[in-house]
Amino acid sequence: MSETLRIAVQKSGRLYDGSMKLLKECGIEVSNGNNQLRVIAANFPVEIFFLRDDDIPEYVQDAVADIGFVGENVVKEKNKEVDTIEKLGFGKCRLSIAIPKTGALQSISDLNGKKIATSYPFILSSFLKEKNIQASIHEISGSVEIAPKIGLADAICDLVSSGSTLFTNELKEIETILYSESILISNKKLSAEKKIILESLQFRLSAVKKAKNNKYVLLNAPNEKLDTICQLLPGMKSPTILPLAEEGWSSVHSVISETDFWNIIEKLKSNGAEGILVIPIEKMIV
Ligand code: ATP
Ligand code: ZN
Repeated sequence: MSETLRIAVQKSGRLYDGSMKLLKECGIEVSNGNNQLRVIAANFPVEIFFLRDDDIPEYVQDAVADIGFVGENVVKEKNKEVDTIEKLGFGKCRLSIAIPKTGALQSISDLNGKKIATSYPFILSSFLKEKNIQASIHEISGSVEIAPKIGLADAICDLVSSGSTLFTNELKEIETILYSESILISNKKLSAEKKIILESLQFRLSAVKKAKNNKYVLLNAPNEKLDTICQLLPGMKSPTILPLAEEGWSSVHSVISETDFWNIIEKLKSNGAEGILVIPIEKMIV
C-alpha cells in the first residue's frame, strides 16, 4: 500500500468545524458520521485522526500523526518538537491576563505576590519572567474565568475572543500575551513520500487562502476612463477589457484583495465605474 499522510484534527470543540471545512475546501472528502476516531479520505492520500486538541502537538512530535491542525496557543504551551508550517486562518483568539473590574489591582506590575489562575502555566510563567513579575501560578484546566470570584486567584490568564465571558464575570483584560489562530504543524522527520503529499496539501491550502483573500470584480466603464480605472486594478496580470454592445463603453474584469477592497471600490466609483459586481472566488491558482 502506498503512503498516506495522517492528519490530527480536534475531535470536537471550537476547531472541529473550521478544520473539516478547510479539508473540504481542499477537495478532501471525509465522513465522520459514526463518530469514528480515524477516517480515511476517499479521494486524497490522507487519514484523519480525531483527538483532543491538547494531545495533538505530542502525537505529531511522536509520529503518531504526521501533521496536525491545532491552535498556536496549544503548540506554544506544550512546547513539543514539531515544525510550524503555516497559519490556517480560523480559530482566532488571544491569550490575555484579566483582573477584576473593581478592586485594588490596576496593571500587570500589581501582580507581584499575587495568584494567577490559568490553563497556560508554561506561556504565563515565561511571560512573567520576561516582565520580572513574581506571581504564583495556579493551574486549572477549565472555567478559569470564575477563579477570582470564588477566591481561588487574584487574576486570570485565559483565551479571549469576543470578551463576553470576561464581561459576564466582571473581569477586564489588561495585557495580551499571545495572538493565536489555528496552525498546521508537522512531524520533523516526514518520509519523502509523506512530504510530497504534504506539499500537495499545501498547494491546495494556498489556493483556498488566496481565494478567500481576493474578490473578482466586474464593472462597466466609459472608454475614456479606462486608463485611470485600470491603474486602480492591479489584477493577477492586467485587467480583462471587453467591449460592451453600447458604443463607447467597456466591461472590465479583475481580481482585488480583500484588504484594499472598500478603498478601491470607492475610487472606481468616483472615476466613472458603473454596475460594479463583486464575486467571491472559490479557488485561486496563480
Ligand atoms: P478539547 O476537548 O479538545 O481539549 P478544549 O475545551 O480544550 O477542547 P476548545 O474550547 O474547543 O478546547 O478550544 C480549542 C481551541 O480553539 C483553543 O485552544 C483556541 O486555539 C481556539 N479558540 C478560539 N477562540 C477561543 C475562545 N474564545 N476560547 C477558547 N478557545 C478559543
Ligand atoms: Zn483542550
